[in-house]
Amino acid sequence: MNRLEERIAKDGIVREGNVLKVDSFLNHQIDIQLLDWIGAEFKRRFEGVEVTKILTIEASGIGIACMTARHFGVPVLFAKKTPTINVDEDKYFSEVASFTHQCINHVFVSKKYLSPDDKVLIIDDFLAHGAALNGLTDLVLQAGAQVAGIGIAIEKGFQDGGRIVREKGYQVESLAIVDAMDPKNGTITFHSQK
Ligand code: 5GP
Repeated sequence: MNRLEERIAKDGIVREGNVLKVDSFLNHQIDIQLLDWIGAEFKRRFEGVEVTKILTIEASGIGIACMTARHFGVPVLFAKKTPTINVDEDKYFSEVASFTHQCINHVFVSKKYLSPDDKVLIIDDFLAHGAALNGLTDLVLQAGAQVAGIGIAIEKGFQDGGRIVREKGYQVESLAIVDAMDPKNGTITFHSQK
């Protein structure tokens, strides 16, 4: 097991409804040493890939994206969530259905921070059904920029998001892939990693 998998096995809490809580080190209290390892691991896995910007979505992706950006030496841009689309020519908008909150968020970035020259590494904490990634890749493509790759801390491999984004041809690197988790006894099974 890698460092993230070990931490999930030790401190992750499995909830009903296929939700994994990682509030003690990732989603509420944040373990910066672990995030720094995550950033270094993304750098290793995307070695040789040109990246000019990291894009994530508020709020839980921001910490991981920032620690990753230190290793790439590029800025972080985060998509903001808003309940409504206020027609605004200065922004790119997309729609994201929230897995955890069961609602639709409209997300946006300012046009001035994404340009056709950008090679964008998309980073997020979880991959479930792929809605967040779908919205983020849409923002990149609207700008005429390129998706350089996708880095995910925790992929729930038993949900369909990973398959959907990989079928689109993107390089997706998930540092922990959960194959199964059982809310009754709390066990978490990981996909074996390279
Ligand atoms: P997707 O859009 O791929 O369906 O879900 C990804 C988003 O939902 C992530 O940005 C993450 O915030 C949230 N999410 C999905 N599944 C989980 C989960 O099991 N635990 C937590 N903490 N967040 C999740």
